Amino acid sequence: MSKLKEVKYLVVHCTATKLSQRVSVEDIDRWHKAQGWSGIGYHWYVDRDGHIFPGRSEHQTGAHVKGYNHCSIGICYEGGINEQGQPADTRTPAQKAALLFIIKDLKQSYPNAIILGHHDFPNVHKSCPCFDARKEYAVL
Ligand SMILES: [Zn+2]
Repeated sequence: MSKLKEVKYLVVHCTATKLSQRVSVEDIDRWHKAQGWSGIGYHWYVDRDGHIFPGRSEHQTGAHVKGYNHCSIGICYEGGINEQGQPADTRTPAQKAALLFIIKDLKQSYPNAIILGHHDFPNVHKSCPCFDARKEYAVL
């Protein structure tokens, strides 16, 4: 794994799963290893109860946004799909608070980083993270 040198972006993701399906940080690690990656591609994970879990070290390049991994930190939350199978902002109040907490903290470490959602990057044809992260965190 290469070292992450410069952090230009903080990128918000979702697991694209229904809330009825629990996803642990270990699950993601296993899924990403199955993709042939060296383990979880995100640097931080926030589950639906608002627990914050470290993923890949912030010193290492992540695997979460094609073409921008070398200059970004990835934060993923559990959910993003409603029970009808549609993309939706399923974040719980605890999860919203935890996301705000971790993103604020990261913004202090990387004051020049721009906060974006995965779908704000070019050629990303998915809804991830299923809410407007750029708008929501514009004040940070
Ligand atoms: Zn994503």
